[in-house]
Amino acid sequence: MPELPEVETVRRGLAPWIVGKKIKKIELVHKGGNRSSTYAPLSSVEGAKVENLVRRGKFLWFELNRDLALVAHLGMSGQFIIQRRSADVEKHLRVRIDCGDRKREIRFIDQRTFGWVAIDKLVREDDELIPQSFARIAPDIFDKKFDRTAVISKFQKKNSAIKRVLLDQSVMSGVGNIYADEALWRAAIHPERISKKLSEQEISTLLDAVSFVMSEALKQGGTSFDDLYINVNGESGYFDVELEAYGQEDEPCSRCGTQIRRITFGNRSSHFCPTCQPKRSAKRKDEAKKVRVKRG
Ligand SMILES: [Zn+2]
Repeated sequence: MPELPEVETVRRGLAPWIVGKKIKKIELVHKGGNRSSTYAPLSSVEGAKVENLVRRGKFLWFELNRDLALVAHLGMSGQFIIQRRSADVEKHLRVRIDCGDRKREIRFIDQRTFGWVAIDKLVREDDELIPQSFARIAPDIFDKKFDRTAVISKFQKKNSAIKRVLLDQSVMSGVGNIYADEALWRAAIHPERISKKLSEQEISTLLDAVSFVMSEALKQGGTSFDDLYINVNGESGYFDVELEAYGQEDEPCSRCGTQIRRITFGNRSSHFCPTCQPKRSAKRKDEAKKVRVKRG
C-alpha cells in the first residue's frame, strides 16, 4: 500500500505534467474511480488551471484557480501514469485527464478500487484554504506545519499500542504498515508497547527514525513490495532491498542476528526483532531487577 514516500514520488512525477496546465477534460471512465462523497462531479473542474500539486500524508491535492479542489488518494493500489493517448485502455482504468499535451494524457488506474479521485470543497485551516480531506488528517513529518512538540505530547496521551498510534492519521499522517515497522525497528521499540508509557526521548527517537526511513525510501523511489506501486512512468521503487523488518519474517536481524518475528494485532501484521525491540523498556527492566534484588 502506498505510503508517504510512494505518494511523494508520484507527486514529483506528475507535477511537471500538470502544474501550470489547464484541465481540458477529465473523464470518469469507471464510477469506482470517484469517491462517493465527492462534492461535485469531476467534470466541474474542466477549464481550471492547476496552480500547484500538494501532498499531505497520503493525499494529493491539485490546487486550482477556483473555489474547488481536485483531490486523490491511491488507496491500496491506485496508480497515476503518463500514457500515450493512443495506448490501449487498461482493464482497471478509472479516470483520464487531458491537460492539453498533444501526445500524452494522465491515467488513474486502480485494481483494488480503494483509491479515488474526487472534488472537495475548500475549508479554512489557520489562515489558509485547504481541501476538506486534508483538514481531517494531521500534517506529516515533512510538512512545514508539523509541530514536533505537539505531536510528542499527543503520543504521550494515547493509551494504545505505539504501532497503532503511528498509523493514526489524526496524530501524524503518511505512515503506514511498512514504514511503521521500519521506524520501530530502527528506534528499537516493540510495536505493542503502550504509547503513553514511552519516554519523551523514546518518542523523539522514533520520530527521527520515521523521518529517516521515509527520506531514504524517497531517494529510492519508494517501496514496491506488492508490485502494485509504480511511479508515473510505470517503474517500481527500489527501497524493498533495504527493508530491515517489514516482510523479513525469519530473516536474521541485521543488528543482532535474531530471527525477525511477525505478530498480528488489530488486523495487521507487525514485524520486529524480539531481542532489539523488547516488550518492556530497558529502564523498566532495570527497575524490575532492583525490586527483585531488594526482595532477595
Ligand atoms: Zn535485533
